[in-house]
Amino acid sequence: MAGLTLKNVTKRFGALQVIHGADLEIEDGEFVVFVGPSGCGKSTLLRMIAGLEDVSGGEIAIAGTVVNDVEPSERHIAMVFQSYALYPHMTVRKNLSFGLTMNGNPKADTERRVAHAADILQINELMDRRPGQLSGGQRQRVAIGRAIVREPQVFLFDEPLSNLDAELRVQMRVEISKLHKQLGTTMIYVTHDQTEAMTLADKIVVLRSGRIEQVGAPLDLYDDPANQFVAGFVGSPK
Ligand code: ADP
Ligand code: MG
Repeated sequence: MAGLTLKNVTKRFGALQVIHGADLEIEDGEFVVFVGPSGCGKSTLLRMIAGLEDVSGGEIAIAGTVVNDVEPSERHIAMVFQSYALYPHMTVRKNLSFGLTMNGNPKADTERRVAHAADILQINELMDRRPGQLSGGQRQRVAIGRAIVREPQVFLFDEPLSNLDAELRVQMRVEISKLHKQLGTTMIYVTHDQTEAMTLADKIVVLRSGRIEQVGAPLDLYDDPANQFVAGFVGSPK
C-alpha cells in the first residue's frame, strides 16, 4: 500500500498547457475520485501518475519516493481502462496470467494470484472462455482481475464503467467498493458520473480546465462547495 503526493505538477502538450500546478495529498489506502467535465485533464493526471506521460514540471511521489524518472512497470501501479483491452484469442485464465508469465513470475505464484483474483471477482466459471464469450460486465471484471494479479500498491481506474449500461454500472460500482474494502489498497478513480463519485469516494478532487478546484470528503463538498462549479458537480443545491 502507498500514499501519493503531487507537488506543483504541470503538463504541456506543445503550446497547450493542460494541467496547471496540481498539488494533492493522497493517504495510504484512500479511495480518491477525480471528477470534472470532459477535457479537464483527468486522464492526463492519471497517466502521469502511472508514468504513461512525463510531467512537464513538478513532482509525483509514491510511498514517499519521487517517481518522475521511474519506469511505469516499476511504480507498483495497475491501471484499469474504459476499454477492456483484453486479448481476444486468449482464455480468461490466460488473460489474467499472461503479463505475469511474460515477466518471468514463478508459475505457482502466478496460479495463486490468478485463483485469488478469480475468487475476489467471482469469475471462476468463466476461466476457460474467451473475451468474445463474455458480457460487458464480465469483461470488465477480467480487466480488473488483470490489475489485481499484479498486486499493485495503487490502482488507477479511468472511467472503467462508462461502457456499461446503467444497471450494470451500479452493480460494478458496488463490487469496486467491496474490492477496496477487501484489499485496502490506495485507489484513484476517474469519472464524470456524480453518483459514482459521491458513493465511492473517501475524497473527491474536482477538476476544471486543468486546475484542482476543490478537494474534500463527499459530504463536505456537498455541504460547503467552494463555488457554483463544484456545487454543480457534487449535486448540492447551492
Ligand atoms: P479528460 O480525461 O478529463 O477528459 P484529458 O486528460 O484526456 O481530459 O485531456 C485534457 C486536455 O489535454 C484536453 O484538452 C485534451 O485535448 C488534451 N490532450 C490530451 N492528450 C493529449 C495529447 N497526447 N496531445 C495533445 N493534447 C492532448
Ligand atoms: Mg479521460
